Amino acid sequence: AMKTAILSEDEQPFDDMSEESEKRKKYIMKKSFLASNEPSCRTMQFPEVVHLNVGGECFSTCLSTLRRYENSMLATMFSGRHRIPRDSEGRYFIDRDGTYFRDILNFLRSGEIPQMERVREVYREAQYYALRPLMTVLEEMQPLLGERVRQAFLDLLPYYTENLERIITVAREKAIQRKARLAKLRVCVFKEELPVTPYERTLFPGTGIAPECTPESFQHKCNVDVSFGPWTAIADVYDLLHCLTNDLHERGITSEQQCIGVCDKHLVSHYYCKRPIYEFKITWW
Ligand SMILES: [Zn+2]
Repeated sequence: AMKTAILSEDEQPFDDMSEESEKRKKYIMKKSFLASNEPSCRTMQFPEVVHLNVGGECFSTCLSTLRRYENSMLATMFSGRHRIPRDSEGRYFIDRDGTYFRDILNFLRSGEIPQMERVREVYREAQYYALRPLMTVLEEMQPLLGERVRQAFLDLLPYYTENLERIITVAREKAIQRKARLAKLRVCVFKEELPVTPYERTLFPGTGIAPECTPESFQHKCNVDVSFGPWTAIADVYDLLHCLTNDLHERGITSEQQCIGVCDKHLVSHYYCKRPIYEFKITWW
């Protein structure tokens, strides 16, 4: 409507040429209609061999390869329903790091699976391109399979992430406060809920233990910076310590830990807390 209005204003002085300008107006309107409706009205045509520019890296492949998996992003992109930007050479442009696109393409071409050291990164790309069949294959491979099992274990651990953050925060505060390279933390890691008696028997009410002992008698907070547990997965204390070391390492933090004994706080009667205490040594520089 805007265009029409401007046009008729322009045409005011040429009223005598009304027939001619009417034709011109119709032509312009038709042209602008086509331009604005291009993606949905007209199907894009692609050559049999498609040249791609993925974040500056160039690839050539068959159109059929890109369309192999119907629900993938590439199949959708090259379905003809969408307009794809082109670079100065006329190659279709995808604004994505091209480093792992070769792996994506090789999977589409022949079902080739990437090398193990590339699995994690290729998985990220497969997610981006919504390439479900490749994702399924990679999820069963290392290290992704292991990471999934590990995550399933950590999901059973209450406050794992919060505690991990707390270790980092406390370690940072301690290091800054003392202007030291190392920070030492006391971390309690116990799998079982109830503390163990000096005779290595788990305490439950009604097991012949002094009548004044109830589960509440044993509830206390150990004198530590962070406490993990209890949990019900089969994975034990060493598995958890391993997870902590790895996750700290992944954030660029070097840590060592060793067991420095048990809490030993007096609870009730002749019972003491036997939760193991670990000393975490965090090296900052
Ligand atoms: Zn304790």
